[in-house]
Amino acid sequence: MTGGAGFLGSHLCDRLVVEGHDVLCLDNFFTGRKQNVNHLLGKPNFELLRHDVVQPIFLEVDEIYNLACPASPTYYQYNPVKTVKTSVMGAIHMLGLAKRVKAKILQASTSEIYGDPAVHPQKEDYRGNVNTIGIRSCYDEGKRCAETLFFDYHRQNNVNIRIVRIFNTYGPRMQPDDGRVVSTFIVQALKNQDITIFGNGSQTRSFCYVDDMIDGMIRMMNGPDDFIGPVNLGNSGEFTILDLAKKIIEMTHSKSRIIHRPLPQDDPRQRRPDITLAVDKLGWEPKIDLEEGLKKTIQYFKGDTRVTS
Ligand code: NAD
Ligand code: UDP
Repeated sequence: MTGGAGFLGSHLCDRLVVEGHDVLCLDNFFTGRKQNVNHLLGKPNFELLRHDVVQPIFLEVDEIYNLACPASPTYYQYNPVKTVKTSVMGAIHMLGLAKRVKAKILQASTSEIYGDPAVHPQKEDYRGNVNTIGIRSCYDEGKRCAETLFFDYHRQNNVNIRIVRIFNTYGPRMQPDDGRVVSTFIVQALKNQDITIFGNGSQTRSFCYVDDMIDGMIRMMNGPDDFIGPVNLGNSGEFTILDLAKKIIEMTHSKSRIIHRPLPQDDPRQRRPDITLAVDKLGWEPKIDLEEGLKKTIQYFKGDTRVTS
């Protein structure tokens, strides 16, 4: 697993270790943390290796989950050239490895490949509305190019691929300073600080709880070889960012006020996955609604000393 010490990667490591797989976790710890996988370090079927996917690596593996890439706009825009390299060179190196050892490989793609979507909800055959030269492009175009590489390695070299397009996912182990909306609002609410809504808050997102996402990713990896995707994975409940802020304030009994900050360039106005394909092909559908998922996430951040101290 690349990016295995990150938010999603660490949960995926947990599941695969419990299922008895031998898991090798590669990470450069840019946005991931050793603490996320600390509890796995003593297990005989878990290994952690500091590695940057921009460099090639020679290993023997049966399956590759390719998750390495900062996912929060704050972090992927910190060093945009590196973000492109991570997505593109990371994909080339992992696909090369998959080709050499005949491993199956799953790409963690994203709803961002649809850009600021003109079609709503988004189906897999929608080709997107992406700015090639904006501040989000390093992430969006890097991920789009990675999808292209996956399909070209599949057609040209017969690599056994899977592509999942992940929509906004949240839960325990997001970093408190991650910058993504759910963790940011929860941390602000718990500290009774102002809740920072970018723009007027009418933009929408669909939030999936991490356990549901991990289940979908594993189903896709284990699914039939003739279903390679891309497939949308996400929760189809759609909320405005203002609704989310109000919900979090209410659930945390917070004294926080809502304040508004300028909307960043190219911030998608709406986002909701059409998950018909995942339901049909994988028998997968999220089970945890926003309220239940937020409850678990708030509980986690209440116990996180870096938030409460
Ligand atoms: P994250 O930032 O917590 O995890 C990314 C991990 O990749 C981190 O551990 C980071 O240190 C590592 N990493 C970054 N660059 C690397 C490099 N060059 N070499 C090795 N490791 C590197 O984010 P996440 O939410 O866990 O996302 C995981 C994957 O899922 C990402 O590829 C992301 O694009 C994708 N995704 C996530 C979401 C979401 O809502 N969480 C949505 C769409 C797509
Ligand atoms: N957002 C916000 N305040 C914040 C962080 C994010 O209003 O402190 C908004 C952001 O502008 C976007 C939405 O919340 O419209 C989701 O942002 P996030 O960075 O979590 O994910 P993405 O934009 O990549 O979907």
